[in-house]
Formats: sequence, C-alpha cells, structure tokens
Amino acid sequence: MTIAPCYLLPQLPESLAGLAELALDLRWSWSHVSDTLWQHIAPKLWEQTHNPWLILQNAGGETLQQLAQDKDFIAKLDAFVAEHRSRLAQTCWFGKTYPHPPFRQVAYFSMEFGLSESLPIYSGGLGILAGDCLKTASDLGVPLLGIGLLWQQGYFRQSLDECGRQIELYPYNDPTQMPVTPVRDAAGEWLRLEMPFPGRSVILRAWQAQVGRVTLYLLDSNDPLNTPADRGITAELYGGGPETRLQQEICLGVGGWMLLRRLGIQPDICHLNEGHAAFAILARAYSHMRDHGTDFPCALTATRAGNIFTTHTPVSAGFDRFTQELMTRYVAGASEAFGIDIETVLALGREHPEDRREPFNMAWLAIRGSLTVNGVSRLHGAVSRRLFQPLFPRWPEDEVPVTHVTNGVHMPSWDSAEADALWTTYCGKSRWLGDLKDIETDFRKTADADIWHLRSVARQEVIQFARQRLQQQLAATYAPERECEQAKTALDPNTLTIGFARRFAAYKRPNMLLSDPDRLYRLLNNPHYPVQLLIAGKAHPQDGAGKAMIQQWTQFIHHYPDLAGRVVFITDYDMLVAEHLVQGVDLWINTPRRPWEASGTSGMKVLVNGGLNLSELDGWWAEAYCPEVGWALGDGQEHDTDLAWDQQEAQQLYRLLEDEVVPLFYHQRDANGCPCGWVDKIRESMSRLTPQFSSNRMLQEYVSTLYVPAAQLLAARSERATVDGICRWQHEIRQHWQSVHFGELNVQSDTDAHHFQVPVYLDDLDPDAVAVQLFANGEGGQCPVLYTMTRGEALSGAINSHNYHCAVPTRHPVEGFTPRIIPYREGCLVPLESTEILWYR
Ligand SMILES: *Cc1c(COP(=O)(O)O)cnc(C)c1O
Repeated sequence: MTIAPCYLLPQLPESLAGLAELALDLRWSWSHVSDTLWQHIAPKLWEQTHNPWLILQNAGGETLQQLAQDKDFIAKLDAFVAEHRSRLAQTCWFGKTYPHPPFRQVAYFSMEFGLSESLPIYSGGLGILAGDCLKTASDLGVPLLGIGLLWQQGYFRQSLDECGRQIELYPYNDPTQMPVTPVRDAAGEWLRLEMPFPGRSVILRAWQAQVGRVTLYLLDSNDPLNTPADRGITAELYGGGPETRLQQEICLGVGGWMLLRRLGIQPDICHLNEGHAAFAILARAYSHMRDHGTDFPCALTATRAGNIFTTHTPVSAGFDRFTQELMTRYVAGASEAFGIDIETVLALGREHPEDRREPFNMAWLAIRGSLTVNGVSRLHGAVSRRLFQPLFPRWPEDEVPVTHVTNGVHMPSWDSAEADALWTTYCGKSRWLGDLKDIETDFRKTADADIWHLRSVARQEVIQFARQRLQQQLAATYAPERECEQAKTALDPNTLTIGFARRFAAYKRPNMLLSDPDRLYRLLNNPHYPVQLLIAGKAHPQDGAGKAMIQQWTQFIHHYPDLAGRVVFITDYDMLVAEHLVQGVDLWINTPRRPWEASGTSGMKVLVNGGLNLSELDGWWAEAYCPEVGWALGDGQEHDTDLAWDQQEAQQLYRLLEDEVVPLFYHQRDANGCPCGWVDKIRESMSRLTPQFSSNRMLQEYVSTLYVPAAQLLAARSERATVDGICRWQHEIRQHWQSVHFGELNVQSDTDAHHFQVPVYLDDLDPDAVAVQLFANGEGGQCPVLYTMTRGEALSGAINSHNYHCAVPTRHPVEGFTPRIIPYREGCLVPLESTEILWYR
C-alpha cells in the first residue's frame, strides 16, 4: 500500500513507515488492536484525542529516533501492520456470498459523514448513519466508496454560559490535523476540479480518508484561487442561506460525480443518502449523454436504474426547496452546454411539472431520477408513501413506490471494551463480520453475573467521564471553587443511571421529563431508590425554542442545589460523548412525537452495551419493542402537536419510571446484589435486538434487496435500443392516455367465481403497453387484492379495442372490485416510470 504524500508529517524513519499507514486508516476508530502503540508514543495526547494521526504529527524527531531504535516497539508495529494488511486482504461476507460480483461499485453520496470526532464533518444521525455504513462496507467487503464535503468548520460546537445559555463556536477544522490526505493525480499533482458556476468557475480540492477497505472522497472549496465568498461554500454544515445550501448541494452532487469521472471510477450504483445529493442524478445523466450521444430523457431513463434514493424526512416541510430564480441561475449554464431545455430540468423538481411558480424540490428530483426509493424504518416507509403520494395522483398510497430498510448501527464502533470482551466470549471474534444467524441463541447463554458485572463497570466509567467533563465545564465558566470541588464526586456508581441525549428540537420533546419538575425532583431524590440523569444535546443556532429547552434543564439543575450531583448536562454532544453515554447508561430515554423520528439510531447504540430503552413507539422502536426488551411510550397513534397529549405522555413517562423501571432495577436482587428481572430484560434486549439493529443486517439488506436488483435493472438498459424503446413507450402513453376508456362492465356470478368482463378502448396504444387489472381494497388492514385481466376477443368496429376477462373466486365480495388500466412494460417500474392510471369509476 502506498501512502499519499503527506506534507506535514515529520520525516519518518524507514522502520516507522508503518505508523503512517495505520494512522491514516480510520479503522482505528472501531478496531482497538493498535491502541497501545499510540498510547506508548504520547500517553497524554492519546488520552485527550484518541487520534493517531494527530499523535504522529506531534511526535518530535527525537522521539521518533528513539522509537526507531526500540526493538520491542518495532516488533509490535510490524505485527500490527501485518495484521492490518492481512485483515484487509481477507475474503469477506460479500465475496463469499457473491463469488461473481453482481455490481462493480457503489458510490454513497452524503452531505455529512460521522466516522470519528477527529473528523468533525457531521451534525447528527444522518452523518453517523453514513459513517457506520462505510465502516460496515469495509467489514463486509462491499465495494462501496463515499462522496462528501470536507467542511472547514463542520457543525457548530457548543458551550454554555453561566446562565445555561447555548454559545455556538466554529473552530477551524485544520485539514492537516485530520486523518485525510490530498488526492493526487498520476503526475502527483493535487487533484482540483473546476466547477462551472454562474459567471465563474469554482475550484474544488479533492481529499480522501481511508476507512478500512473503503475510501471516502471529500471536496472542499477553500482554495486560494477562489473568491473569499466561494472559499466559504464548504465552511459550515447546515449554515448559511438558501443560495449557499444550493451551492453546497451542487458541489456534493455534481462535484462528486465529476471527481469520480476524473478518477476513472465508474460506479454502477449511486446511493443518495437524503435528497441533498440529488444533483448527482443530473450529472450522471449528462455524462451518459456525452458518452452515448443520446438526448436527456433517454440518458435519465438509462442511468436512473442505478440510482437509489434513501429519504430520511418525516415531514414535507423537511425537503430542501429552491426558488425557480435561484435554480435558473445555477442550472442554466449546464443545461445550455448540454443542449437541454432548462424547463425539462426544472420540471423534475415540481409536483406539477408545468407550474412554473413552484419551487424546486430536491426530493422530487431524487425520486424522479431513481428507480429505487426507501425510507429508514417500516413506519417511515409508510410515512414516506404518504409524503410522495402527490407525485402519483390517483394511485393508492400503498402502491406509492417507496420501500424501507430499517437503519442499524456499527456495533464495533459503539461497544465498550468490556462489552466487546463479553460478546467475544459467547459469540466469537468475527460475530459482526458474517451472517449474524447464531448470535441470538449464543448470547442467550450469558450468565446473570457476567451481564451485571458489565453494567457495573460501564456505569462507573461513564461516571468518571461525566465528572471530568463537568469539572472542565465549570472551570470554563469560572464557577465557584466549591462547585468545582463537588464535581469530583458527582454521581454515584450504584444508582440507576438514565441517559438522555439528542438534538434539542421541538419534535424530540427534550423537556418532557421537566413537565412536572417537582415530580422529577422526587423521582431523582428518592432516598431509597435514587435515579441520576446524564443529559446532552445541541439546538440548531436558529432554533430559539430548542435553545430555551436547554436552558430549562440548566435552570432546573440550579433550582434544586441538592441535585447538582444527580443531574449533569454534558455540553457539546458529539460522537465521543455519545460513545461514553451509550456505553454507560442503564436506560436510554427517547421522546419524539410520532411519526417524526424517521428511524432514530442512538437507542440502538445502547443495545450492544446492555442498556435498555424506554422510547416512544416511533421509528425503529415501533419495530423493536415488545415487553420483554424494554418500555414503550405513547399509544402507537399520531397526535401531531397536541399539547394536551404531550401532557398525558409526560404522565405516562413518570408512571413508567416510578412504577416499573425503578422497582425493577432495585428490587428482586439476588445474594450478590444482582437485579434478576432487570438482567433478564438486558439479556433479551441484547440477544434479540443487537443483531437485528446492527448495520450488518442493514447493509446486507441494502445489498440483497436494493443494490443487486438495481444493478440488474441497470444492466438490462445497457443497449441503446432498450432505452429508446422505454422512452417511446413513455411518450406513447402520455400522448394517448386521454383517449383510453372503458366500456360497460359486466359481471356474472356462478357457484365458483365472479366472471368480470369489460371492453377497453385503447386509442392508438399497443395493447401490450398497458395492463388491465381488477383491484379491491384489502379488508381490515390487509393488502389490496389484485387480479390481472386477460385480453380477449377484439371488438368489431373499433380499433385497438378488446374485451378483458377475469374470474375471481366467490370468497371475495363482488362489489369490492374496480377495473383499472395502468401502463405496463417488461423491465419497467410502474408507477415510477409512468404515473398514469385510469379507474373504471
Ligand atoms: C447516534 C447519534 C445521533 C443520532 O441520534 P438520534 O437520537 O437517533 O437522533 C446524533 N448525534 C450523535 C453525536 C450521535 O452519536
């Protein structure tokens, strides 16, 4: 393996070259085999940063010379490098499952990637999912690469002033201190892209990060040749106004695609993680036009088969929208260059393609430019079908073409060292690298004492972490000496420890526990069965209500001085804080308003560590919950922003904690002090849910149910004639649909069947271009019933007109059925590729 030239690294003695190889592979963020090396070089810095790349850069020449002489160190280093290389060379799940790879390369586009706090280019759940996806692709050997942006400041960093008000900080992400290197071309030059922007070009610099077997490519605009304004395009993640956001999304989608072309990489699958990346669809189609000399509609038809759109949004207001003026400004140039009518492009982002006043919706572009669309939990799949329904007028919501793959998390990144050891004992070292099938049964064999020991150690560790952070926070606000002193002994290692960390946004209801402060106070301060709380979370800089909720918590803590050792707000929630919390807490609480938590992943991170969940029946928990594994909040219905309902749920939350959670934790203890009922729940939650909500299961599902079929669809469109045929079919359908109509329906029933017959007049349409079906709604939540009617005799005296027949068993009530006509073509997806539908009535 060659290391891209690294410009700020001290001269490494030959024998230490392996250090750079290890430090530049983010595999260290989940595999801790080589931790001792870095600890040996700089114990203090390691403790503070856990960033090998930083340690290597800070190491002085003298230290390095000494290490180069240290035989033990060199032997260890060589062994680790050998382990690293052999691990990367192993055949993995993907290679074993698919000896003939069904696709070449997946390009995974995402606005943010959360891989480690040492590469702070993420904001929250969406980015962490993307990071976990890359790590899992590495573990499983899935040929996948990432495309993202190297944010100069990333998302803001949080601190609190002495009154508990959020302060937003934007420290500069020095790329030389992050585990990334410039991408260099064959001649050794730093790869730069020139992006056509209105009236100018913007230069994007290319970087790469190594994540085991997977490469993450990142672009930034901070090139001195750009204007100061353009240098800031990739400054703040989710900062700036609509124009900046549009520029960022063009850099991601178009820039990302251009980079792949420059590198000679031809992905067959483009996986768009949220609509932000949807401009990749246009860039990919433009490339196809140029390569094959086709027009834009045919290029889109050919390439969209390889595009997969994962939506994460639970409300329509959450989709990115840009005004027509803004879009025209940015799209006109490219459209002209490719000879495309700009209206054709703009129409892709409108609900009603002809309505020029409509803003351009990135989710509409994404769905019209993909043949595979999915939500991120079962419930979110259903919600997304509702949101996308307007694009498929008169189609039943059930048939809106959005499926789901429930999220998962990368267990090796979120487990503690102790949890890892326990899992290894029962399920082996390679448990997260294969098909997961024995994990549940194997883990069921764990002894009570082992589980409880894990929990006790974990609780102690998170308390250590919280104390340190609390001391730092207090020192930073010049708190009185007495408070700083108390922080050293805050929290108690034998007390039930509840974690509550998330974005402070209204829909997450982060202040639900505060709706009756006295009741919360009594719960926490129960002399026999006390409870302690660890809280963290940021509010978006523009979200005043979210910030007020943070302050509500800090005021609560101040209002009851004797709670200072029981409730700790840890500032600057990031992956490091999350890691400590999910490893240490006994219970994780999540209180979103259903159905606004598309999936949620933080609760999945506690599973592997033996934490339990108490959560709203929303997102993943609506699939995972059963009484044996945790607690459910809410009634499984939607109540929008009904404040009275919020109150009721708050009461339910207190009741669950007082009557079920606290007693289960403290009662029924055996002779060794182990709470048997609590431990049973942990065992059930760990064995049942951990494999199910691991990113292994998730990525395997993406591969087998989405990537492989998409690659097949794409391959089936490799011939020009096939694509032309599809485009002609779409055109014919649009042209003639207005004239298609039914004659009179005739039904006759005998003892076995209802015999339906209906004349269909198809104007000039080829009868093979449509399907005639009988449709009935399912009863009591069942799937709809669908029968295909067969074409019978031609109607004399009319062109292209036939009787269609179907016999339906008499167990179905005859009145439920309605005939309908839909477009049909082998190898095409309806209604994605042709949205027409005609109902008999
Ligand atoms: C996992 C994680 C999230 C996602 O949390 P949700 O509760 O699912 O929204 C957000 N931020 C950080 C730092 C995380 O680690």
